[in-house]
Amino acid sequence: MTEPHPMEIEFRSDVTVELIRAAASDADVLFAARVSTKGEQSLDDVHADPARSKGLINYLMRDRHGTPFEHNSMTFYVQAPIFVFREMMRHRIASYNEESGRYRQLRPVFYVPAPDRKLVQQGKPGHYEFVDGTPEQYKIVVEATKRACEEAYAAYLEMLNAGVAREVARGVLPVAIYSSAYVTLNARSLMNFLSLRTRRESSRFPSFPQREIEMVAERMEAEWARLMPLTHEAFEAHGRVAP
Ligand SMILES: Cc1cc2nc3c(=O)[nH]c(=O)nc-3n(C[C@H](O)[C@H](O)[C@H](O)COP(=O)(O)OP(=O)(O)OC[C@H]3O[C@@H](n4cnc5c(N)ncnc54)[C@H](O)[C@@H]3O)c2cc1C
Repeated sequence: MTEPHPMEIEFRSDVTVELIRAAASDADVLFAARVSTKGEQSLDDVHADPARSKGLINYLMRDRHGTPFEHNSMTFYVQAPIFVFREMMRHRIASYNEESGRYRQLRPVFYVPAPDRKLVQQGKPGHYEFVDGTPEQYKIVVEATKRACEEAYAAYLEMLNAGVAREVARGVLPVAIYSSAYVTLNARSLMNFLSLRTRRESSRFPSFPQREIEMVAERMEAEWARLMPLTHEAFEAHGRVAP
């Protein structure tokens, strides 16, 4: 077994989302949809007749003809706290590969909320909102989180130094520790993810996601909107409902 490294503890309040590769464009939706009537590909049509293309994508979105939105692929590299990945991996219509806590020593990088993170929940379950905390509450959050993470990582290192396996020692690490994964999905699956993991006034079916997974969703949405602007526009126009 390799010697454990005593690493500097790092606290972050953000997430990393990088588009690693993509085969995804509005034209991919159009050729898939038009095979029904034309029986042939029409990859250039989106540029040839933008108004018609926009109209077709709008129609598909409005009437929830979802399958033409599946003929594309996006791979994201994500760094986020483990509690975000727990929620993310509930979205089964995506592929995931995550770093292993069995095969490598986990790095001491932990999430601590940023000062603008709303800290206090008000209202009944299903009808609650989050509001700002006081400066005193924020101070407690930061200090308690840092203390707990530092103690947990020290316990982890103590076990590794004693020759205990990584898969056993990691049991003391909190869900605030960062992990990393590749996530591959298509636009239809991404729309389902965005409909549930972003909170928007324009949503026909409002969702109330945890802010930290919403931070990942927002970054993915920005990349996707750049790749498939007509599809994104139609998603927005029809209440952010996954077709
Ligand atoms: C605000 C919020 C709160 C949540 N709270 C909880 C909670 O307290 N506890 C909890 O356990 N989970 C909770 N979840 C997770 C939630 O139940 C879903 O697991 C998660 O949102 C993934 O959604 P999905 O199944 O639509 O996604 P995907 O798994 O990506 O599926 C996409 C779509 O494919 C279809 N599909 C996929 N698998 C099947 C299947 N086996 N059978 C039939 N159709 C299928 C469905 O149409 C589905 O919508 C919460 C989610 C949100 C957004």
